[in-house]
Amino acid sequence: MTWRATVLTLFPEMFPGPLDVSLIGKAREKNLWSLEVRDIRQHGLGRHRTVDDTPAGGGPGMVMRADVACAAIDAARAANPNVPAIYLSPRGLPLTQARVRGLVEEKGVILLCGRFEGLDQRAIEARNLQEISIGDFVLAGGEIAAMALIEACVRLIPGALGDAASPADESFSEGLLEYPQYTRPQNFEGRDIPAPLLSGNHAEIARWRRAQALALTRARRPDLAALLDKKKP
Ligand code: SAH
Repeated sequence: MTWRATVLTLFPEMFPGPLDVSLIGKAREKNLWSLEVRDIRQHGLGRHRTVDDTPAGGGPGMVMRADVACAAIDAARAANPNVPAIYLSPRGLPLTQARVRGLVEEKGVILLCGRFEGLDQRAIEARNLQEISIGDFVLAGGEIAAMALIEACVRLIPGALGDAASPADESFSEGLLEYPQYTRPQNFEGRDIPAPLLSGNHAEIARWRRAQALALTRARRPDLAALLDKKKP
């Protein structure tokens, strides 16, 4: 089964871009996922294919029109039915690994990339769009956020990573940040690979990694550490 991503954007030339390299690109060649990029401007109005207008109530910038956005979503739906429709937005629910896992379980996604000051609220309501944010910062458009979401999803599709990596014990899989990684040489500029990793003792290695992951999580992400403490008091 192919996981189908449909992207609605005013800048279709940005795609597939980084989504065509390495394992994510190979996974597309293997038909593990597909990408359909649709130009929102096809649904623009009049001779100039207008997609935006000034904000009601005044203020700077332009707002993407609801009629144009909804026409684009409806056309995308016809080709990619029964998948969640998402508007990438700094106001959205945060994109987490748990949410990524949920989206991979779906048949695919429709992703609407905003530009300007954002999208007319009525489009969000009329098409029941889920709003998802990739972090507490503001991008110029939703395209890079859509790419981040797609890449995070595709690497979880069975077969996409081959045996090159296993998503099982990486960051966030158990609510922990990942332990530090090392490879050869054994000594780099006076720094040795930590002894437990060279012990050959799998239990000792697992203990060391777990302790490192916990310490890192406590130091860097008190929010994640608090969740862990709530789970196992
Ligand atoms: N005025 C808006 C920001 C608009 S930024 C506000 O303050 O909320 C223009 C577009 O970039 C948005 O419509 C959205 O699609 C995208 N975007 C910006 N930051 C984003 C983020 N952190 N996550 C996801 N999409 C984002």
